[in-house]
Amino acid sequence: MYHDNIFTRIIAGEIPCDKVYESEYTLAFKDIAPKAPTHILVIPKGKYVDFSDFTARASADEMTDFYRSVARVADEKLPGGHRIIINTAKDGGQEVPHFHAHILGGRTLGPKIVQE
Ligand code: AMP
Repeated sequence: MYHDNIFTRIIAGEIPCDKVYESEYTLAFKDIAPKAPTHILVIPKGKYVDFSDFTARASADEMTDFYRSVARVADEKLPGGHRIIINTAKDGGQEVPHFHAHILGGRTLGPKIVQE
């Protein structure tokens, strides 16, 4: 179940963000704690907890707009290459329970998963 969170407030305009791109259904903004020289978050404006929730409940227009927005921002901001990450739930390291994709790049990125 969706519970309002920091991204809900960003979408509502109650908290500022460093906006990169906006469309009817989608918002992209810079991550507040970047893990690479360029680190952008892309979120649907609708209330979806994670990838599965979005895929199950979003309309075709919302999904098309979201995935095209991710591709557009990634290709425009990081034409030399990038990594797109979607974390899900506790084991996936998801901290904010509003579906989002991370776009990372700006340098050669390291190993995909660090073994502990
Ligand atoms: P995740 O761990 O996949 O849920 O990622 C959540 C991301 O949201 C983290 O990379 C945070 O740095 C980022 N974040 C949290 N609050 C904000 C905020 N107010 N503005 C921009 N990014 C944020």
